[in-house]
Amino acid sequence: MNQETLNLIVENIKKAKNSEFYTKHFAGIEPDDIKTYEDFLKLPFTDKENLRDAYPLGLCAVPEDEIVRIHSSSGTTGTPVIIPYTKKDVEDWAIMFKRCYETAGITQSDRIHITPGYGLWTAGIGFQLGAELLGAMAIPMGPGNTDKQLQMMIDLKSTVLTATSSYALLLAEEIAKRGIGDKIHLKKGVIGSERWGEKMRKRIADELGVELYDIYGLTEIYGPGIGISCKHECGMHMWTDYLYYEIIDPKTGELVPEGEVGELVITTLQKEGAPLIRYRTHDLTKAIGGTCECGMDYPRIATLIGRSDDMIKVKGTIIYPGKVDEVLSAIEGVSSEYQILIDHLNGKDILSLYFETPINSDEYSALEKQVVRTFKEKIGITAKVLAVPVGDLPRSEKKTTRIFDNRY
Ligand code: ZN
Repeated sequence: MNQETLNLIVENIKKAKNSEFYTKHFAGIEPDDIKTYEDFLKLPFTDKENLRDAYPLGLCAVPEDEIVRIHSSSGTTGTPVIIPYTKKDVEDWAIMFKRCYETAGITQSDRIHITPGYGLWTAGIGFQLGAELLGAMAIPMGPGNTDKQLQMMIDLKSTVLTATSSYALLLAEEIAKRGIGDKIHLKKGVIGSERWGEKMRKRIADELGVELYDIYGLTEIYGPGIGISCKHECGMHMWTDYLYYEIIDPKTGELVPEGEVGELVITTLQKEGAPLIRYRTHDLTKAIGGTCECGMDYPRIATLIGRSDDMIKVKGTIIYPGKVDEVLSAIEGVSSEYQILIDHLNGKDILSLYFETPINSDEYSALEKQVVRTFKEKIGITAKVLAVPVGDLPRSEKKTTRIFDNRY
């Protein structure tokens, strides 16, 4: 960490301490006492659970009449987290998003088809702000209504699709099924980063005939647009003029060496409405060293490997969802979509794996046996395996859940 970044962080902590939340969370911490990187590393983490306690506006670090907008991150349970934005926060977010589009080679001549949702969460409106600042044509579809999506995509000649990976796959499959590929003008896809396997990426890219870019972000830190992959597909560049990041061991909180998987932790450098310090994203990734062929100096992290809270222990073995993707990707005949159910029956954990395959059903049995063998060899668990035809497993407009733990 250089002195300039450290100074920014100290300023940021001073701002944060104007909020009710950080007044309590950082009680006893004097920003001016943070003089070195080592001092910074002693600061406590901030976690989503902490932010819930700040509901509704406890995170607000400026007078409330300076807030121009709020967003909220969806909790599956409990109190939502509210993030207040000042005018400058909204502008900064748009600047970062525009930079993302530019990194993907998108220009003002492009027509950006926006399928992520609008509303309290940050997805759709972030894609829109960046598109407008770039001067491109934003087509604010929001999710759902596939017929209308495809009609507008054809009639308005959309050139860029923005979507979650599972919705991009759904649209790609629908386009193939309807045989309308020659009417589609898409050239690029900007896909909200979540863990998605190589096979799924390749299917979307092939069926839509587009280049794909992974965009990263989370509501607590602006929203999508704080980092994106470039055309060299070697991780996501992160906008380190707006944020400082660390990668830690999710169990011990210690920094992990470059190249090792850990949890991404982010400190905002410019945020006014709700500055966050050492915020635990629970996203698993790793730092990628060296310089990128694209020539940009912004450092890179790997596309997401999973969530630290998704690690699952079955029969004493830890499973990372990303590892399952990797193992299944390597088996010929297994398509990108799968689902895992974990149950506890008669005192034993049972892991059932359903996977999609395009092959004939009379060949299922041989492929299933192969999957059982490979799964046991690479993951270390004997699974009950069942092949199903492509399209049988649910697609979602939001992030896809592939592992269902029914034990608790
Ligand atoms: Zn690059």
